[in-house]
Amino acid sequence: MHGMEKVPSALTLAQHRSHDYRFLIRCWRELVEEAGLRMRILTRVGGMPVYGLESKSPDDGRPEIYISAGVHGDEVAGPWGLLEWARENGALLRERRFLLFPAMNPVGMILNTRMDHQGRDLNRSFHELEDELMVAWRKLMEGRKLAIGLCLHEDYDGQGCYLYELNKTRKTIGKAVLQDCAEVIAVDGRRSMDGSRSNEGLIAKRKIPVLPGLPEAIVLHELGAPVALTFETPSEFSLVDRVRAQKTFITSALKHACVL
Ligand SMILES: [Zn+2]
Repeated sequence: MHGMEKVPSALTLAQHRSHDYRFLIRCWRELVEEAGLRMRILTRVGGMPVYGLESKSPDDGRPEIYISAGVHGDEVAGPWGLLEWARENGALLRERRFLLFPAMNPVGMILNTRMDHQGRDLNRSFHELEDELMVAWRKLMEGRKLAIGLCLHEDYDGQGCYLYELNKTRKTIGKAVLQDCAEVIAVDGRRSMDGSRSNEGLIAKRKIPVLPGLPEAIVLHELGAPVALTFETPSEFSLVDRVRAQKTFITSALKHACVL
């Protein structure tokens, strides 16, 4: 695999650098050139830069693919899964237009906390129009047409993988995606997650739920992404498996949503 010589991923996990935000960013820096990505600082929060990566290639009229990770700092399989996926998909990254957020909550990642540098749940803050990070995020999102939005998360109560699906298209893809992910980590069999009814790991919403603060996926859906998926791996399972499941999720979601 390309890039293994410089920052071997197996070593990343073996050395327990899973909360090492600077190391994660260093790994991305080694990757961006070859993947045809531009790395920019959205803003600084708690003294730490938050990065957004976008394709350098000119707009070809096709909608962009959005993937974000690390909105909750203690859910580290997302950021490392996204990195691993990117390492293995350099050609695709160059071929299509992507918008990637490697770790949206750096202070939370470093401190191993769900909350951000202000002690708030970032995934209930995407409606905020005056917050520095949200203003920078919205500015970057302005005028973009999205094909799909993928939000990578974990759940410490999780007993397997599960998925929230917001989908305006005729064909839901959640079941097929979970089936692929189940080859790495079984589907969470609970009937209800956080008050939402789940059907074999799938929480599908036709109507946008009313919540006190807005999660990223809902705002992406409102901004025009016809499909917005929030994937959850169980935080108490092996980190190696969780990273693999996250990587599998990205590949499977892009395949089943037919956005490639
Ligand atoms: Zn989360």
